[in-house]
Amino acid sequence: MYDDNNIFAKIIRGEIPCKKVYEDDNFLAFYDISPKAPVHVLVIPKSAYVSLNDFAEKAENDLLAETFKVIPKIAKDLGIYEGYKVAVNVGERGGQEVPHFHVHIMGGWK
Ligand code: AMP
Repeated sequence: MYDDNNIFAKIIRGEIPCKKVYEDDNFLAFYDISPKAPVHVLVIPKSAYVSLNDFAEKAENDLLAETFKVIPKIAKDLGIYEGYKVAVNVGERGGQEVPHFHVHIMGGWK
């Protein structure tokens, strides 16, 4: 069950601020509040999906495809297009803390 009060849902609704780096109709990207890399951004779909599993099960194929289009686009905007990591934690046992599907983009190492 999706929790409407998770922190990313509040960010999407504008109830909590974020340092936004990208937004379109379907996605929002913002800096991670506790960065694990010189550049650490989170990309989230604006619609409600608990995890990657939930997203893969329920999202339209167009949105799944768009996810993989938007990640390199954001990496380019961030100036890390030539080298970056993408990570998705799934479920508590996978280290997922926020129950709204998100993709970590990390880079900027020298
Ligand atoms: P995960 O462990 O994959 O669920 O990652 C959640 C990430 O969200 C962590 O890297 C946190 O530092 C980050 N985070 C938590 N709250 C906020 C927030 N208000 N704004 C930006 N990032 C956040």
